[in-house]
Amino acid sequence: MSDIQFFGHIIDNEEVESIDGKRFDVWNPWTREVWAQAAEGSEKDAERAIESARRAFDEGPWPRMGRVERAAAIHRLADLMEERADELARLDSTNMAKPFAQAKHDVARSVWNFRFFADHQRDHVGEVYPMDSGHHTYSEFGPAGVVAAISPWNFPLMMASWKIAPAIAWGNTCIIKPSEDTPASVTMLGRLAAEAGFPPGVLNVLNGYGAPAGATLTGDDRVDRVTFTGSSTTGKHVMASAATHLAPVSLELGGKGANIVFEDADVDNAVYWAVEAIFRNAGQICLAGSRLFVHSSLYDSFMARFVEAAEALTIGDPFDPATKFSSLASKRHFDKVVSYVEGAKALGGTIHTGGVADDGSWVVRPTIIDGLALDAAPYCEEIFGPVCVVNSFDTEEEAVHLANDTRYGLNAMLFTENLSRAHRVASRLRAGTVWVNCFFIRDLRTPFGGVGDSGVGREGGNFSREFFTEPKAVVMQIDRG
Ligand code: NAD
Repeated sequence: MSDIQFFGHIIDNEEVESIDGKRFDVWNPWTREVWAQAAEGSEKDAERAIESARRAFDEGPWPRMGRVERAAAIHRLADLMEERADELARLDSTNMAKPFAQAKHDVARSVWNFRFFADHQRDHVGEVYPMDSGHHTYSEFGPAGVVAAISPWNFPLMMASWKIAPAIAWGNTCIIKPSEDTPASVTMLGRLAAEAGFPPGVLNVLNGYGAPAGATLTGDDRVDRVTFTGSSTTGKHVMASAATHLAPVSLELGGKGANIVFEDADVDNAVYWAVEAIFRNAGQICLAGSRLFVHSSLYDSFMARFVEAAEALTIGDPFDPATKFSSLASKRHFDKVVSYVEGAKALGGTIHTGGVADDGSWVVRPTIIDGLALDAAPYCEEIFGPVCVVNSFDTEEEAVHLANDTRYGLNAMLFTENLSRAHRVASRLRAGTVWVNCFFIRDLRTPFGGVGDSGVGREGGNFSREFFTEPKAVVMQIDRG
C-alpha cells in the first residue's frame, strides 16, 4: 500500500483530507488494481469549498484584478501545465487507460483552453452604443460569482479545463468536482494553480461522489452558475437542483452521433474518420460517431474496409507507444458496454467484428454491428463505448431522416465531395456541431453544445462570456440641453 498515491481536496490552495477523514479507492483499469486513494467529499467538505470560493469572490483580488494581470496569471498556470505535461498525461493514462499519446494530446488542448480564455476575456471587454439622444451607453461583462463545475471521466483534464478556464478567466471563482473515477489530473491542476500564485479560493477541487459532493454544490444558493458535463440523466438532476436557487446552468450531455457516408465520398478519408470517430478513446466520447449510415451502393465494400481498419488497431497497455486502443475506464462501465453487445446479439444484430476480449481484462474490442431494428436499445441509446451500429440508406432525404431520428443532438459527421450537398445536409441536421469530411476539430471561438437530450446552452468564445458573466448596460447622460 505504500506506493498508493493520495489526491486530496484543494481548498484555499491547501491539499486537505475530508473533514471526516474518509477516502475512496481509485482504480487503474488496465492493471485492474487500486493505485491511489482520494478524499471522499461530504456535504461539509462541499460547504467548506463553497465558503472558500465565496470569500475569494466577495473579498479577494481575483474578480477585481485587471484583465491583463488575470490573463498573465492564467498563462502562468498554462506554462506549468506544459512543463508538467508528461506527469499530467501519465495520471490520465493510469486513471482511465487512455493511450499515452492521446493523453498528451488532451493536455495540449487543455493548455490551449487556458491560454485562449485568458486572452479572450482580456480582449472582449464590452460594447459601446453611441446614441444621438444625448446619452452614451456601454455594456460591461462582470463576473457572475461562484461557479460550480462538474466533470466526467472520459477526458478528465480536458473536460474540466473547458469549464474552469472560461469560468476563472472571466473573474469568477470556481469549485471543480471531477468524476470519482478520475480524480488525479484535476487534483494536480489544483496543485499547479496554487504553484502559479492564484489567490486562495479561486480554484478549489472537491473530490467525491455525485451525491453528496456534486449535489451539495449544485443545490447551494451561494453558487451563481452551474456548468456540468456528463450523462443526460444526471444533467436533469443537476438542472432541477440548480433551479431551486435559480442558478443558470450549462449542460453538456450525452450523444449518439450520426456519421453519414454518401456515395460520392472520398472513401479512404471516410473510413479513416469512421474509425477515429467511434474507436478513439475506446468510444468513450460524447461526440462518438456511434451510428454509421452508408449509402447502399458502397455498403458492402465500405463495411469490409471499416472492419479491416478496426481490426488493425493495436490493443494494449496505454503506456506502450504502439497502443491505439485500451481497456474501458472502469469495471462498472465495462459491464454496461458488454450488456449492450450481448443485447445486440440477442436482438438479432450481426457482429462483424469485436466483442469482449475474454481474457479477464476490461477490454471490449472495436465492435461493428448491423442488422438491428431502429428501435433496438443498442441502436437508440448511448453506449459510450467502442460499439458502432451501421445501417444503409438510398437517398439524401432518408439519410437526414435517419440521422435526426434520435433524442440526442450533439454532433453529426457527413462525408461527400459534393459541396452543395455538404451545405444542404449540414443545415438540415439537428445537431450542435456538424463536421464535413472530418471529426473532432474545434475552434474555441465557436459555439459548442447540444440539442435535445444532448444539453442546454453553448460554450466557447463569446458564448462562454454570456454564461460566465453578468452583462450590464451603463447609460450615461452626456448632454443636459
Ligand atoms: P455522470 O453523469 O455519471 O457523471 C458526471 C459527473 O456528475 C461526475 O463527476 C459525477 O460524480 C457527477 N454527478 C453524479 N450525480 C450527480 C448529482 N446528483 N449531482 C451533481 N453531480 C453529480 O457521467 P459520466 O459517466 O461521468 O460521463 C459520461 C457521460 O458524459 C456520457 O453520457 C457522455 O456522453 C457525457 N459527456 C458529454 C460531453 C459533452 O461535451 N456533451 C463530454 C464528455 C462526456
